[in-house]
Amino acid sequence: MTGLRIVLLGPPGAGKGTHAKVLSRTHGILHISTGDILRSQIQAGTELGKRAKSFIDSGKLVPDDLVVEMIQDRLNRPDVQKGFILDGFPRTVEQAKALEAMLEASKTPLGVVLEFATSEAVIVNRLSGRRACPKCGTNYHIRNIPPKQEGICDLCGSALIQRKDDKPETIRERLKVYHEQTAPLIKFYKKRKTLRAVNGDLEIEPLQAELAKQLQTL
Ligand code: ATP
Ligand code: MG
Repeated sequence: MTGLRIVLLGPPGAGKGTHAKVLSRTHGILHISTGDILRSQIQAGTELGKRAKSFIDSGKLVPDDLVVEMIQDRLNRPDVQKGFILDGFPRTVEQAKALEAMLEASKTPLGVVLEFATSEAVIVNRLSGRRACPKCGTNYHIRNIPPKQEGICDLCGSALIQRKDDKPETIRERLKVYHEQTAPLIKFYKKRKTLRAVNGDLEIEPLQAELAKQLQTL
């Protein structure tokens, strides 16, 4: 299992973050989430955070050059040698090409791209009920994954928040952006024969089982 490089692809709310965290624990693979990195940059008030904030809050993508540079820095760190799960990157064809070039240069190609095929009704329900821990990034859902104590993170005790970009009008914008800019990656990775689809509408446990099965056959 070492050296496994995985991309999770799918619309917002498909559960990429939730499943990446579980896989990272069960399979001991590093989880790299561009959404989490960007949110922590915003919290820390860095230059990158300042530039990214308005794009994120309005449901748009952060410009390619910013996220590509951010990922390049991350993939240059020594802990990625054992493999990684990329969650939220690439999100455009431009980003996918940049990633391909980086991995070609280090002769470490992707093992698999897992597409979370998810229906629109499920997405809207998940995002509107989502609550997030601003400190450790753990996601909850007011009905599907409630924390043990209402409004409090099970793992670190912080007060949970609703992300600004999980408001209904922003959710609609994010879905539009997904269809226009990210969905073309399905074709991109199909051509390279690295794509496998899983049913993103499944509940957490059956989908985790499905993902574990997929990874076993790699
Ligand atoms: P999921 O619910 O499936 O985990 P998500 O909806 O939580 O996905 P994040 O990955 O957290 O989405 O990303 C939140 C926002 O951060 C995006 O809407 C976008 O503005 C910005 N962002 C994250 N990754 C990228 C990227 N690769 N390119 C451009 N913008 C990005
Ligand atoms: Mg996420």
